[in-house]
Amino acid sequence: MSLTRAHDVETSERGAWFFRSLVVRASGAEFAIRGQRLNELERERAAGAGLVGESRGRALWWVGEAFYWETDGMDAEHVALEIWDRQRRREHRYDRLRTIRAREEEATTVRRERIPEEVRVLVWARDEGRCVRCGAEDDLQFDHVIPVARGGGNAQGNIQILCGNCNRLKSDRIA
Ligand SMILES: [Zn+2]
Repeated sequence: MSLTRAHDVETSERGAWFFRSLVVRASGAEFAIRGQRLNELERERAAGAGLVGESRGRALWWVGEAFYWETDGMDAEHVALEIWDRQRRREHRYDRLRTIRAREEEATTVRRERIPEEVRVLVWARDEGRCVRCGAEDDLQFDHVIPVARGGGNAQGNIQILCGNCNRLKSDRIA
């Protein structure tokens, strides 16, 4: 399928009312559209895609604010659907990127903030100053139950005490 955006299009409008005409220039081709045909083109464009004209086996379509060259003999409905589909895919992609970026920014913020002192105190009391896995009482660390990289925060419910050994075993399993 060949439907490509035409980037070098110039349009100029002349006259008024019945004498109105539109000249469209693109890639060395020039189309002059007048009278009734110009009204039709505007209606077609408003409905999805308007055929500006054909030159050397290519058709120039007007869709929204953009022009497209097309070489497959597509009709107006197919051109409009194709452009709509491309815009929709692009929007989905931007939505995905927005979500990923928000998650990463959130993770960066959590990483930058230390676990608050009051959370440390509460977790220490709750876990009785011992590794929650093996009960060890030295080499203790505050651990994020859900890792920061996966959206876990610094709230009390997401912090636990682990010894260095259990923490390494946990990291190995996640990685
Ligand atoms: Zn342990």
